[in-house]
Amino acid sequence: MDKRIISAALTGNWGDKSKNPALPMTPEEIADSAYEAYQAGAAMVHIHMRDEEGHPTMRVDLFEKTIRLIQEKCDVIINMTSSGGHSLDGMAPDETRMLPFKKLKPEMGSYDCGTMNWLHQTIFENNPQFLENLGHLYQDVGTKPEIEIFDIGMLDTAKYYIKKGVLKPPCHFQFIMGAPGGMAGTVSNLAYIQSQLPEGSTWSASGLSKNHIPIMLAALALGGHVRVGLEDNLYYAHGILADSNAQLVARAADVIRSAGMEPATPEEAREILSLK
Ligand code: ZN
Repeated sequence: MDKRIISAALTGNWGDKSKNPALPMTPEEIADSAYEAYQAGAAMVHIHMRDEEGHPTMRVDLFEKTIRLIQEKCDVIINMTSSGGHSLDGMAPDETRMLPFKKLKPEMGSYDCGTMNWLHQTIFENNPQFLENLGHLYQDVGTKPEIEIFDIGMLDTAKYYIKKGVLKPPCHFQFIMGAPGGMAGTVSNLAYIQSQLPEGSTWSASGLSKNHIPIMLAALALGGHVRVGLEDNLYYAHGILADSNAQLVARAADVIRSAGMEPATPEEAREILSLK
């Protein structure tokens, strides 16, 4: 059976309950949302933390509590962001971004492979020293990078770090398509970029807003996995807010099944991604 991994990006750095009341913010809400997403067919959850005021943060205690609450309920793969704390005021310091990985050693962590003008508003900074340090840290603690690609040149940057030994193949890539400041969320961009991957890579894609459904369908047709969730899409359809992360996961699971494939379980996803 053709298994496809659904990754649920539950809460990003941006947006809050005024934009969609279903956005999970506290450790309890994020853990409940993770469990519901798992029940709907997600094999992986990508998590960001928010502090008591709802601001994005890399606080270790919040990650720790959230992961404990998730793992009490299910064995879904935990993919922690390394870019939490990014706001219009800028990025969290590099050390702050790496600390939760030193302490918690999650199975996966995001690795944003370059710097970009985020939403035409602020610099999403991933400087060369940070990328080298983070890549080596992930190897030291046994966290597999999810290499996030927002722009086509970021894939060439990833190839440079593979050559340098900062990233170890087989690599897993996440194409985030249609973020303002990054590559457009077109099917032809996805078809091209996935054709340039190093051999033996696994990959997944997510299209933001109106790009979501075309990119999901194209990713499945091209042999990729898919990411959904409120981090990427607060809306279920034009003008209709999503009820929950699980609702977005359930739609992806339905699409996968109707195409004659199956959503991968966390165990199957671990095998596909060569996780220990
Ligand atoms: Zn994220």
